[in-house]
Amino acid sequence: MDVAARADRLRSGFDAAECDALLVTNLTNIRYLTGFTGSAALLLVAPDGLVFVTDGRYRDQAADELAAAGVEADIRIGRTTEAQRELLAKAAGGLARLALEAEDVSWAQQRRFDAEWFEAAELVASTGLVEDLRELKDAGEVARIEAACAIADEALAAVRHRLGEGATEAEVALELEWEMRRRGADGPSFETIVASGPNGAQPHHRAGERRIGEGDLVVIDFGALVDGYHSDMTRTLAVGALDGTQQRMFDVVRESQAAGVAAVRAGVEAEAVHEVCRSVIREAGWDEAFLHGTGHGVGLDIHEPPRISTTATGSLADGHVVTVEPGVYLSAHGGVRIEDTVVVTAEGCRPLTLAPKEPAL
Ligand code: ZN
Ligand code: ZN
Repeated sequence: MDVAARADRLRSGFDAAECDALLVTNLTNIRYLTGFTGSAALLLVAPDGLVFVTDGRYRDQAADELAAAGVEADIRIGRTTEAQRELLAKAAGGLARLALEAEDVSWAQQRRFDAEWFEAAELVASTGLVEDLRELKDAGEVARIEAACAIADEALAAVRHRLGEGATEAEVALELEWEMRRRGADGPSFETIVASGPNGAQPHHRAGERRIGEGDLVVIDFGALVDGYHSDMTRTLAVGALDGTQQRMFDVVRESQAAGVAAVRAGVEAEAVHEVCRSVIREAGWDEAFLHGTGHGVGLDIHEPPRISTTATGSLADGHVVTVEPGVYLSAHGGVRIEDTVVVTAEGCRPLTLAPKEPAL
């Protein structure tokens, strides 16, 4: 990953955003621009350099992580908020128009920045300046997501037999997380979903105390975290034989998901990929049972742009990493969702989640 080159790419968008500099407050964006993984920092991206302000807890970690990422910045330690205010007020002294991250800064913060921190500058609301850069993954980022996906594939292979042995949802979730950590994951990439039987009708059911039994469909949606990058995969497994409705649900979702993956390529409108998935489900008569969008970007956040949904605008591009995850949710029968994480290419896409899709354990 060429972390150091990112600040210049960010600056090239300043003219269009009508600003001279950006105060980055979103910690994920700070990580993207500097490699810093701590829980408190502010980053001023000025025309001629970076000013990185954190507190005493991160004095050594900030120096180490920025150096490891090859990022040159003026690292300043402000042990109190007042000290940080003074440091940044001075650093921003000559700036006419300073952008804030409008999606991240609270109303109270904005008022303080305006009245107390940056009195001399005009504050400008900006949206998505760093997030737009983050949408396109470089080879190092794809390699980390791919590693996270491979760990999740292996964990599912190790645990899937447990569904037929009377385990509870919570036990399966815990064992998946243990298997992922054992294989080098820093943790799960979000709270693992194991939704069995009727619970599967809720797309984001939390793994609970229900014991998985014969005749259940089990929706398992989970991922691994590797060096800050997430993976995201859903498989729906069946304990014993599927009944007629369950088989039809599975076949429809499988066809819908395969059609969606086949439609992904650079240049296609995101909304069109959603429509491809949805039309298969609609033809089966289950349009009302497809309760969510088709997919989302995956990277330093588990859900990030671009979105693939009915309200999505814009097209997919070479280097996007997105999910394709249609589902059908019926209160009386449970749920089926199948999800892959894929890298968009000029010709199509390359799936990173490779666990088999057959429902048998
Ligand atoms: Zn998922
Ligand atoms: Zn997802």
